[in-house]
Amino acid sequence: MGKRLGEREVLFREVQKGMTSRILYIPFDHLNRNKGVLKDLDPKTDVVVLVESARMTSGRDWHKERLFFLISSARHFAEELKASGIKVEYIKAETTIHGLDTAKSIYGDLPVYCAEPSSFRSFAQLTEYGVKFVTNDLFLTKREDFFAWAKSQKTYVMENFYRAQRVRLNILVLDGKPEGGAWNFDADNRLPPPKNYEWPEYLYHDRDEIDLAVAKDLDYEPTRTWATTRKGALAQLEYFIKHHLDGFGPYEDAVVKDNWALHHSLLSPYLNNGLLDPAEAVSAVINSYKQGKAKIQSVEAIVRQVIGWREYVNGMYWFLGEGYKYKNGLNAQLPLLPVFRNSIATEMDCVSSVVKDIEDRSWVHHIPRLMILSNLALITGTNPQEFLDWMREAFIDASDWVMVPNVIGMGVHADGGIMMTKPYAAGGAYISRMTQYCKGCVYDPKLRVGDNACPFTTLYWDFLDRHKEEFVKNHRMSQQVYGLKKLSDLDELKVRASQVITGLSKGQI
Ligand SMILES: Cc1cc2nc3c(=O)[nH]c(=O)nc-3n(C[C@H](O)[C@H](O)[C@H](O)COP(=O)(O)OP(=O)(O)OC[C@H]3O[C@@H](n4cnc5c(N)ncnc54)[C@H](O)[C@@H]3O)c2cc1C
Ligand code: SF4
Repeated sequence: MGKRLGEREVLFREVQKGMTSRILYIPFDHLNRNKGVLKDLDPKTDVVVLVESARMTSGRDWHKERLFFLISSARHFAEELKASGIKVEYIKAETTIHGLDTAKSIYGDLPVYCAEPSSFRSFAQLTEYGVKFVTNDLFLTKREDFFAWAKSQKTYVMENFYRAQRVRLNILVLDGKPEGGAWNFDADNRLPPPKNYEWPEYLYHDRDEIDLAVAKDLDYEPTRTWATTRKGALAQLEYFIKHHLDGFGPYEDAVVKDNWALHHSLLSPYLNNGLLDPAEAVSAVINSYKQGKAKIQSVEAIVRQVIGWREYVNGMYWFLGEGYKYKNGLNAQLPLLPVFRNSIATEMDCVSSVVKDIEDRSWVHHIPRLMILSNLALITGTNPQEFLDWMREAFIDASDWVMVPNVIGMGVHADGGIMMTKPYAAGGAYISRMTQYCKGCVYDPKLRVGDNACPFTTLYWDFLDRHKEEFVKNHRMSQQVYGLKKLSDLDELKVRASQVITGLSKGQI
């Protein structure tokens, strides 16, 4: 019986081989039936190939929640394509290239097509393999259009790009003017954590047989936080619009202890692996606004993230080139602190809680990423590439195109100010205002010296002092640098800063 089926399989493959003229390669961040090479798929003559490469799961300390999400989404996507009558090969191989070789060994030496890859590395690899590219339309801005914008600018200020995007895409613009009377409602947003506030329930996603098989392969018990199908991703979008959109703006920068998601959309994993298209996410938001279900400051805030920040970061990744990832403009050489890989390796309540959240579900929102994790790396002088590597491994939504600019440019200011005009350095006062961690912490955000001094407060001043020569020339930083002169205890602070860095390096602070 088994042998007869084997022969049939061989025969079937031979027939398919004769009919197939193109290999359409789908990387795990292009899981969208209506985008990239799948847009003009001919089911009679094309075979779709996905490669689950061993390199993807091994070699680095990847968060298993992340691997689970990426692999299970890809396996579901392959099954959905098959169920709709499309010829699909889901190949497990050592590397992507080995997988494509396998596809060619089955179907012959056919041309391979793929959407423009999302990192320099895979771009180079696939180009060398002879792959032909079509536009990566999972972004709203073509690379050449972003380059044209960037080349026309003296400085690459996101706000300018965002306003141009609003006009170009005709989103929340009336007669060339911003809807609601302003381009930006930051003054109404960015509120501290609310008191006695009831956050909506989290949306949980059920697991099916494919999920369970992936979990078994990874020897991991996944959360139910992340969907692994398009249906689940759409449910997340709908849930966000219904329960979170209206409250998104005011509390987008707040961090609370009793809710890890607040009003954030939790859409980045799906926008980044293709299960959601940014255009459909923005349309859903705008529709809700037009129906009067959400206020302008929230709608503008989320639109800014998707058509502004996300597109800007991707554009800058390609514009700034491959070498940008290796920048270390502040010559930061401290090895990665143990607290990043182990939430109990610190007594700092904010850092420990945020790292624990990442251990639990591979995600925290932008303020913990920027003002707690990156801020700590920045002011301790942690090596940017070591920090970047950790961030890449730890987050559910990480890819080169998005992590490199966010970390190197925005997070740790390693690019000398190409992307951001000033570093996002802050002491305990900011964290105390915007989060609820300080009340339960052994350290005091107001103190900069002494055993109870908040490490952020101490290190913030130490950081400014270490880089005062560079920063005093920056008009957005000079006030802060002059503030150093008012410190009567700078010598004592420098001693404490050195103790803090040694203690953090040993996991004892
Ligand atoms: C140091 C640092 C590292 C980051 N690394 C990543 C990353 O690896 N992957 C990632 O998708 N985002 C990254 N971000 C941006 C942002 O933190 C996440 O997109 C967001 O937290 C995802 O959660 P959400 O979907 O609920 O986002 P929301 O707050 O609901 O925002 C909506 C969407 O806007 C987009 N967006 C907002 N800001 C950015 C940004 N700076 N860059 C790119 N997209 C943005 C995302 O697609 C996000 O889903 C990083 C930010 C910082 C400061
Ligand atoms: S006191 Fe400092 S270390 Fe403690 S939670 Fe506040 S900011 Fe973090």
